[in-house]
Amino acid sequence: MSEALASRRLRVPVASLMKKLFSRERFRADLDIALGEQGLYERGEGGGLRLDVWLESSPDGIRVKGRMWGSIGMECTRCLKEYRQNLEIDVDEFYRRPGLGADAGEGRKLPREAEMPEDDAYLIEENAIDLNVMVNDAVLLSMPIKRLCSEECRGICPYCGKELNQGPCTCRDEHVDPRLEILRTLLEGEDEDE
Ligand SMILES: [Zn+2]
Ligand SMILES: [Zn+2]
Repeated sequence: MSEALASRRLRVPVASLMKKLFSRERFRADLDIALGEQGLYERGEGGGLRLDVWLESSPDGIRVKGRMWGSIGMECTRCLKEYRQNLEIDVDEFYRRPGLGADAGEGRKLPREAEMPEDDAYLIEENAIDLNVMVNDAVLLSMPIKRLCSEECRGICPYCGKELNQGPCTCRDEHVDPRLEILRTLLEGEDEDE
């Protein structure tokens, strides 16, 4: 879970926006995102997750505010099949202008601390804002602890491997529920002690 999302579409040029202070631009993208073993990745064009934000320029940088909603592809931890996980996330982030103290222009000097990005702010780099890390972080933070295609998912039979959502398997009579199996072993153990 180390690699971040790397969609080219999420690198947004902002040079013109930065020239006009307090101007706004809307940015929308439909993303086909799935969660794999390495983290989130983009599968193709268009998809179930929509990002709809306003980019607003200020002397310090660009505010990104809006919403992300829809779904991403994930694997159910019980049946191991892909399902769509619904998401709805409010977005409100700040992308800081780099090197503020040095090139603020018109002789404006900012305190030295302003050169350092705040902990919770991203940086504008090469006249673009990279929304990948922002989307990546927001999506991963909103993931449920239980990743199930459905609360009722029956998963896979541990003995024959059949997907039990499609019906019972034939080894059902031979093997009881593993939790009951433990109980049975305990009871049998008691028998042996006698
Ligand atoms: Zn499932
Ligand atoms: Zn079975």
